[in-house]
Amino acid sequence: MDFDLTDEQKLVRETARAFTDNEIVDRARDNARAERFDVDLVRKIADQGYLGAIVPREYGGAGLDHLTYGLIVEEIGRGDSAMRTVISVQTSLVCSAILRWGTEEQKAHYLPRLCSGEWLGCFGLTEPDTGSDAANQRTRARRTDSGWVINGAKMWISMGNHAQVALVFAQTDPELKHRGLACFLVDTDQPGYQPQEIHHKMGLHASDTASIGLDDVEVTDDQMLGEVGEGFKVAMSALDSGRFSVAAGCVGICQGCVEESVRYATERRQFDRPIASFQLVQAMLAEMKVKTDAARMLVWRAGFLKDAGRPNTLETSVAKLYATESAVECANTAIQVHGGAGYVDDHPVERWFRDVRVTTLYEGTSQIQKLIIGCALTGINALVPDLPEPVRA
Ligand SMILES: Cc1cc2nc3c(=O)[nH]c(=O)nc-3n(C[C@H](O)[C@H](O)[C@H](O)COP(=O)(O)OP(=O)(O)OC[C@H]3O[C@@H](n4cnc5c(N)ncnc54)[C@H](O)[C@@H]3O)c2cc1C
Repeated sequence: MDFDLTDEQKLVRETARAFTDNEIVDRARDNARAERFDVDLVRKIADQGYLGAIVPREYGGAGLDHLTYGLIVEEIGRGDSAMRTVISVQTSLVCSAILRWGTEEQKAHYLPRLCSGEWLGCFGLTEPDTGSDAANQRTRARRTDSGWVINGAKMWISMGNHAQVALVFAQTDPELKHRGLACFLVDTDQPGYQPQEIHHKMGLHASDTASIGLDDVEVTDDQMLGEVGEGFKVAMSALDSGRFSVAAGCVGICQGCVEESVRYATERRQFDRPIASFQLVQAMLAEMKVKTDAARMLVWRAGFLKDAGRPNTLETSVAKLYATESAVECANTAIQVHGGAGYVDDHPVERWFRDVRVTTLYEGTSQIQKLIIGCALTGINALVPDLPEPVRA
């Protein structure tokens, strides 16, 4: 096994690191304080080619492999989880789904606009009454002579207020359960698409989060992504990429916690010496370092498998579970190293602590990741009993 990055991967990582330090880090605190979704910064991220990193060049993307994509996401995740969320949603949840399931016309229409940042996309799976049980969609799509009419509601949708296109999952026939689901590409200026901002989140204050009403939204057959009955597979395949991206972003938070804590511990003096000289402080640094390295290796393994075209649902869930839980622990430990100074937003650890908490919730909670892993180990699917193993879409 070769742990060395290629020269190109090193260059991409260094570029993403410099971009993060120069463009993102300074704005992150102000945007969080102002609860501002920084459209100008999103534009700069798009100009870097980070919104379509894994999309082939023929559709306007950067044509990079997943491992390299993970390196970019790690750096942006260190700078600001709100901006990392933009990349994860746009690239992994939206672009990867269109790339995998779209017709040639859909790919040609949507991907160049999404990769360039001209359009933003959002991923509408969660509903007020449907979270972990994603197959149990209450949103309905009813057949009409000219296409479909969608009615329902979506909840917690990242970029739902700013997106030009929304992937909307809906049930076409409740009797068919997950086999009746379909995914639609809804243009958000269509009548009946009604987003509302969600305020007062614990973290991700600079991220746009929406609840969305869907009131007689009319779509044509051309706007279906995949076939009727493939909606659940579309969602699961998108989440396979999304979870990788969240995990990579969490490695960035872990890395940031190590760097900031080492810096602070060597500067801060107590008892006439740097606090870094105390063994109990070094223990905290060491614990964070071990978690960071282990999380990164798991993310790289998942990326390697994706690039090799091999099944990776299990390995992606392992990476997501471990990296997100580790990032929560590292952010907590980093505040401990900073003492009272870590309790205000003068230091990024305060924001990391609030921003990271959602990562063990969204794109499948830690409990759901454990059930995916348990299914792979036992062959028993605790989530959708009539599926023998995780959907490998
Ligand atoms: C800031 C933010 C952004 C988000 N962005 C998006 C987005 O862009 N698109 C989107 O579709 N969704 C998004 N989500 C929604 C997110 O994916 C859901 O919150 C998540 O899937 C959990 O669903 P839930 O909140 O309904 O919790 P629930 O499913 O109600 O779970 C509550 C608790 O019960 C546990 N639980 C549930 N079922 C089981 C089970 N079978 N076994 C064991 N434990 C179980 C869960 O692990 C959790 O601890 C976002 C959420 C947030 C907070």
